[in-house]
Amino acid sequence: MLKFPSDVVDSPILAETVLKTGVLINILRAKVDYDEGTIVISILGDEEQQRKIVDTLIEKGIEVSRLEKNITNDISRCVDCGACISLCPTGAISFNKDWSINVDGEKCIRCGVCVEACPLRSLSIQEE
Ligand code: SF4
Ligand code: SF4
Repeated sequence: MLKFPSDVVDSPILAETVLKTGVLINILRAKVDYDEGTIVISILGDEEQQRKIVDTLIEKGIEVSRLEKNITNDISRCVDCGACISLCPTGAISFNKDWSINVDGEKCIRCGVCVEACPLRSLSIQEE
């Protein structure tokens, strides 16, 4: 997750970083206001390539943190209604054999659609 301070929020930092490193990134979520930007990316490459991107972004004044978990489901709230399943663009949510909900964090691209859709606020995306 990248946090852009206000003085660089209008600079093409991501584009410059990709051009400089030659490493591709994928933007998963972005929220940019007049005073701050938060962008979640995945880096397409091995550990060395990931390091190149992270080091370049830090050099440019971007705060970088690694998100270990994508999506979590609070099973104490979830009633297994299934409303989130068809909305997920990557098929990350499915029914188990016992009709409970399974969330596959590896497939999740952090789009947030399921979080908004869940009537019981059972799903959440790690932000920090
Ligand atoms: S929409 Fe919410 S309550 Fe329904 S199955 Fe999904 S996580 Fe559970
Ligand atoms: S955040 Fe998006 S990709 Fe991840 S499980 Fe929810 S709907 Fe699927």
